[in-house]
Amino acid sequence: MAKQKLALIGNGMAGVRCIEEILKIQPDRFEVTVFGSEPHPNYDRIQLSNVLQGATTIDDITINDWNWYKENNITLFSGETVTNIDTVKQIIYSDTNREVEYDQLILATGSIPFILPIKGADKKGVTAFRNIEDCEKMIEYSKNNKKAAVIGGGLLGLEAARGLLNLGMQVDVIHLSEYLMDRQLDPTAGKMLQRELESQGMNFYLGKQTQEVLGEIDVKGLRFSDGEEISADLVVMAVGIKPNVQLAKNCGIPVNRGIIVDDYMETGIPNIYSVGECAEHREMVYGLVAPLYEQGKVLAKRICGQESKAYEGSVLSTKLKVSGVDVFSAGEIFEDEKAKSIKEFNEWNGTYKKVMIRNGKISGAVLFGDTKESNNLLSMINKNADVSEYLKVGTSGEPSVSLVTSMSHEEIVCGCNGVTKGDIVTAIESKGLTSIEEVKGCTSASRSCGGCKPLVGDILELTLGADFSKSNQKESICTCTTLSRDEVVAEIREKNLTHTREVMNVLGWNTSDGCSKCKPALNYYLGMIHPVEYEDEKESRYVNERLHANIQKDGTFSVVPRMYGGVTNPEQLRKIANVADKYNVKLLKVTGGQRIDMFGVEKEDLPGVWADLDMPSGYAYGKTLRTVKTCVGENFCRFGTQDSIGLGIALEKKFERVGTPHKVKMAVSACPRNCAESGIKDLGVVGVDGAWEIYIGGNGGTHLRAAELLCKVKTSDEVIEITGAYIQHYRETANYLERTSVWVERVGFDTIKTIIGDKQKRNELNQRLDEALSVLQEPWKEIIESNAIQTGLFQKVKIPAISNK
Ligand SMILES: Cc1cc2nc3c(=O)[nH]c(=O)nc-3n(C[C@H](O)[C@H](O)[C@H](O)COP(=O)(O)OP(=O)(O)OC[C@H]3O[C@@H](n4cnc5c(N)ncnc54)[C@H](O)[C@@H]3O)c2cc1C
Ligand code: SF4
Repeated sequence: MAKQKLALIGNGMAGVRCIEEILKIQPDRFEVTVFGSEPHPNYDRIQLSNVLQGATTIDDITINDWNWYKENNITLFSGETVTNIDTVKQIIYSDTNREVEYDQLILATGSIPFILPIKGADKKGVTAFRNIEDCEKMIEYSKNNKKAAVIGGGLLGLEAARGLLNLGMQVDVIHLSEYLMDRQLDPTAGKMLQRELESQGMNFYLGKQTQEVLGEIDVKGLRFSDGEEISADLVVMAVGIKPNVQLAKNCGIPVNRGIIVDDYMETGIPNIYSVGECAEHREMVYGLVAPLYEQGKVLAKRICGQESKAYEGSVLSTKLKVSGVDVFSAGEIFEDEKAKSIKEFNEWNGTYKKVMIRNGKISGAVLFGDTKESNNLLSMINKNADVSEYLKVGTSGEPSVSLVTSMSHEEIVCGCNGVTKGDIVTAIESKGLTSIEEVKGCTSASRSCGGCKPLVGDILELTLGADFSKSNQKESICTCTTLSRDEVVAEIREKNLTHTREVMNVLGWNTSDGCSKCKPALNYYLGMIHPVEYEDEKESRYVNERLHANIQKDGTFSVVPRMYGGVTNPEQLRKIANVADKYNVKLLKVTGGQRIDMFGVEKEDLPGVWADLDMPSGYAYGKTLRTVKTCVGENFCRFGTQDSIGLGIALEKKFERVGTPHKVKMAVSACPRNCAESGIKDLGVVGVDGAWEIYIGGNGGTHLRAAELLCKVKTSDEVIEITGAYIQHYRETANYLERTSVWVERVGFDTIKTIIGDKQKRNELNQRLDEALSVLQEPWKEIIESNAIQTGLFQKVKIPAISNK
């Protein structure tokens, strides 16, 4: 029997996924022809964000290469656009005058990016962010231009902005609404997101309507409706997409916003179907792959004549693919008369959770800062779970594995790649997989945004039972490599690698430039391993560390000079007062670390402020020793038996400036009354009858943890010796960005105690630390003395205030 002719218009993610599903069911039933306007084989559009952010390359995002079409006897006409369809004679016409007959036709023409109809939108340097060409254009522009403006503070705009930052551009994001991602987040989460992205270096113009793109032929800037102008060499429009329906409309296929389809993806014309972003189902048009893949499955069964469940629509969930930012949103997000919410907001550690309830059922969620629960919540939203189910899990501490147990095999685990629980379980069982990395390699689950990793881990645990070992789960330092922190550090030592680029090249990074996660980490590891020879790569550091001051929410900076041991004098106070007057400092605040914070300093004034202060940097922004808090001690306090101030100052002077995986805080109290709060510091010292007790691994912040007694010594010199060994051991073995409280728990208190208790090891650690300490410079002084650094780093960039409305 002759094969039926099946044609697909649109070689994108939805259409080709549907063909894959058809091939799985009936590989030989159809003679398949595919038309695609783009000159590429089918690729993963989602990954364009990662390409731009340097986390992967264009070569790596192909889903089905040219061979796949050959192997499956598919005729592909790439770089060819269909211009007409005769729906009666069932013939397709393309722009190369090709005519192809069909028996069944799938329209999967996707969307087209919306370009604002404003003056100047056609200038050279204006681009959308939709396809490989857009991505290449941005990468090319970033080589010779400095300033980018992204119009649109939604998912796509922010991912583009992060990519452009990674490419070394200064980035302004312009958004019409007063807060970011206003379609997926509420104002609280939106503003938290803004703060996080500002700390990464993004600059925002909120509540602004762009009126004109400025420039002659090339883009020179933007003008807003309130008359304000900003400069820009590149403008990225990420203001939305619209279903690509023109072809369907011209051919008489019923169209509303999208191509209208029923629950089996059939259009109003016989033998013509539609899936993907161009299809409108029950008045909904979807712009994320998970629903499109669901549609593809339903249609595949329909076309193959198999009984299938109707497509009933999907709950949308989103995650932002920006390194270091965890945001999740699903279902409904705003309260009304009938929809109430349960909220948890922790301003201190920057986490926010809102779970929506309508008619007693879980109907939506927003997570910021910690998205571990995202898949569980999505599953509950999809199941329309009763609020009691959420409350039970949320309050009982019941392991999440039980939630995985209740998921059906059809439920999607990885929304980005449309991988179900069943796919993962089958892969684990049939291929003997034991780690998340292996599951990723085999099924693509967690390949894109990585948000479903915890759930994949739970499925592994559930499927393998006792054979699953959490400790064996190798965690790569970022998506640019499969190597873990320990492997990278070992390779740097063994191969004597000396630059971040060299590490990336030699160790086979899958990106040429790394990402915002691995770059600062590699910079730290290299500096720790080669303390004398290594030249710090400032561009790999976060903005506060690059500028040696903390950026505040209104775009100004705070300056904290060092006050050793929390002790000051009239001369220092006079200098601080004079500087506060001269530079119009908005707030002078005594900090918990016993020094004075000067808020509201403009970026271009920072070098002047430092020069006038003539005091060392307090490193309030650094991953290093922050402060040594001290109590009054023996000189004035009637309980004090020890010189806590003297020891505190000695510790601070000895260990200031040395780079550590995360910030380090210390304290010295002269008696067990512990006025300096030594029990919640990374290292705390307490005076007791003629001796000092040394405590480690304490934390007074989000990971509240009491410090543990490491040892008791007699003299201040011994305290300094133990402290040196402790800091160096932490420097050498902790993960970048791991506080001591977490490190002590991970490595084990007893292990650390044994190592530091060993006299020889202690000496060796101190020798290595002394070497690192010997080359450190005072950073503010270095900047004051260098015109080049001042011009490069401290030009004025306006960052508007966050609205509190
Ligand atoms: C940068 C970026 C990041 C994204 N991130 C995510 C994410 O994290 N998670 C997520 O779920 N989704 C994400 N998306 C959205 C996701 O990529 C889309 O939902 C998905 O690609 C849509 O698939 P589609 O097949 O409907 O359309 P497309 O992938 O756009 O495919 C349509 C294809 O049809 C072709 N075509 C159109 N008309 C014709 C014609 N007349 N003749 C021939 N060919 C034609 C087009 O050229 C195109 O190649 C992202 C999108 C972008 C751009
Ligand atoms: S810790 Fe003891 S010595 Fe220090 S100030 Fe408090 S009471 Fe006095």
